[in-house]
Amino acid sequence: MNPATSPKFKMLPMASATAVTDEAYSEASVQVLADGSTAINGVAKLEIFGREIWYDIERHVVVKWRNGGVEGRPGPESVDEVPAQTTCTDCACGTQEAGTQEAGTQEAAEFRYPRQEFQNRTYQQQHATAEKFFDVESEHRLGIVELHVNDKCNFRCDYCYLKSAGIEYLDNEMPRDVAEKSVELLIDALPPGGSGVVKFYGGEPFLSYALMRHVVSYAGMRAGETGKRVVFTVNTNGSLLNDEKIQWCKDNHVRVTISLDGNEESNDKYRVYASGNGTYKTVLRKALTFLDEAGYLMLRSTVNEASFQLKDSMAEFGELDGANQKVKFQSDFNLVGKTHVTHADADKLMIDHEQLAMVWVEKLKRGEKIRYGNFTEPMIKAFYTIKTPYRCGAGRTLVSVSPKGAIYPCHRFVGVDDLSMGDVETGFDGRQRQEFIDNRVEHKEPCNKCWARYFCGGGCAFNNYFTNANIRDTNSVHCKLFRHEVKLGLYMYTELHEMHSGAKGAVSDGRGPAPVAHAGAAEAPAHAG
Ligand code: SF4
Ligand code: SF4
Repeated sequence: MNPATSPKFKMLPMASATAVTDEAYSEASVQVLADGSTAINGVAKLEIFGREIWYDIERHVVVKWRNGGVEGRPGPESVDEVPAQTTCTDCACGTQEAGTQEAGTQEAAEFRYPRQEFQNRTYQQQHATAEKFFDVESEHRLGIVELHVNDKCNFRCDYCYLKSAGIEYLDNEMPRDVAEKSVELLIDALPPGGSGVVKFYGGEPFLSYALMRHVVSYAGMRAGETGKRVVFTVNTNGSLLNDEKIQWCKDNHVRVTISLDGNEESNDKYRVYASGNGTYKTVLRKALTFLDEAGYLMLRSTVNEASFQLKDSMAEFGELDGANQKVKFQSDFNLVGKTHVTHADADKLMIDHEQLAMVWVEKLKRGEKIRYGNFTEPMIKAFYTIKTPYRCGAGRTLVSVSPKGAIYPCHRFVGVDDLSMGDVETGFDGRQRQEFIDNRVEHKEPCNKCWARYFCGGGCAFNNYFTNANIRDTNSVHCKLFRHEVKLGLYMYTELHEMHSGAKGAVSDGRGPAPVAHAGAAEAPAHAG
């Protein structure tokens, strides 16, 4: 029987979430959720490390938790204690890190209250503010354009999305006029005074450094002329960074994310040069130079199968700069293609994640920060009551432009012509766009019965597409790994409350410094990303 349509379920009293009791969790009144866990009146009872965490799915709050007979609850002070800049949604691919998605909206800028002002609001007002912010996101206004500046690369990673899409490494580079039209697409979409993001992707973007320089200069000029704002990011393999390029990134506030797959053994299994030689030593050296010169470092790892040394790799990243706390990192599971993570792999990787969580709980107890986005994202979302109805902005607030000017929902879809969305000459294909707008987490099975839906947003559309041939149906390995990450994050959330009655400074948002606006005299936005 479908629990949602069960007469027993419908007859439940409308108790407030905080009034949920053990008795209410009698067998007769339990709703079974997508992962087999249970909820009553929308409050899920999650279990991790012997702790019960009671989480109200729609209100998106942790109601209480319990260790043995000892009960804890979050207090209003907990929200006050969280760094106010840690807002927004995230993306599994590191493409669309938290905040950048929303940076395209004026409303988002307005959300970035000075810390004191945010703290002066009541707990309820803070929650209402966060919800308003995320309602704005549902307007689907374009705010990010990814430029797939080339399809050439000096690496030959086995899991590369170019390979997944059946694209050979070619020598194509985006012509300047296509790049300029892509910038115009963004500028046109922004409201008066609004902010947008240009993201450089490839291939390896720094193989098209001259084009990147042109785009930054052109977008800056157009932003100045129109009174709008544009910020920039680049995802790079890191191998071509040198003093000049690092200085250029600093001068132009281009936020850099470097791909490095964990420790040497994990990285060099698949991330190799065209010659077949490993890339780890070079990239780590360049990354540390970047850290030294730019003052921050953001690393992103792709996890392929169980041989990836997840615990050791992430623990190593956590120690890269000792107490300076300037290195942020996250891992993403490769769920499609020949090196993808299977259910059996996931079991081992989940154990790794549990061991990592234990190590980092000890760090928290010593007053150190956590800088691992996989755990900090659910913590931040819980602290701020931030709901994520979509996994990302793909096809709605974000599009990617191929070297030839074709528009796709995001960089991973480039070359997937079934989902092409027009081109920079003719603009969006409205029909395809609607499919992404409709792909909201409450509107599809099994997400509408999943307790983690507002942390997740329904999974990566690309992973869904390559698993099921449609963007809606989910990837079950993702669901298993993701829900586990959220549980670990919520466990840490409750630990922080137990330690401090709050979490001042303990959570790092995992995103490095804020990029600033690249526009005439426009003030730099206090960017969340
Ligand atoms: S895709 Fe996300 S929201 Fe949907 S069932 Fe899986 S974990 Fe839950
Ligand atoms: S659909 Fe694209 S942008 Fe969205 S999470 Fe997947 S890879 Fe990232």
